[in-house]
Amino acid sequence: MNDTLPPCPECGSVYAYEMDSLLNCPECGHTWSAEDSAAPMIRDAVGNVLADGDTVTVIKDLKVKGTSSTVKVGTKVRGIRLVEGDHDIDCKVPGIGPMGLKSQFVKKVSE
Ligand SMILES: [Zn+2]
Repeated sequence: MNDTLPPCPECGSVYAYEMDSLLNCPECGHTWSAEDSAAPMIRDAVGNVLADGDTVTVIKDLKVKGTSSTVKVGTKVRGIRLVEGDHDIDCKVPGIGPMGLKSQFVKKVSE
């Protein structure tokens, strides 16, 4: 167990307290499950929370390491998988193949 409670995911307040296995924020009134907050949330370039299976578009041209290929801005990538690390999105880019992307360079699209 970790005795340091995570900050409120809504307002960032560090005064969250635990009650009935839920975490409560005294500042904005948000309540959330401690289990959900265990995994850090990965957000896209504009702050949307990303989840496995989401579709995203690339917001800037990205060079593919070790090749001369570039993932063009606007490329739509389906079925992303969130992973830990510097490149926090695992995906298969059409025309390029499997690669890692950084969440800060994508934007979630709803289909
Ligand atoms: Zn809050």
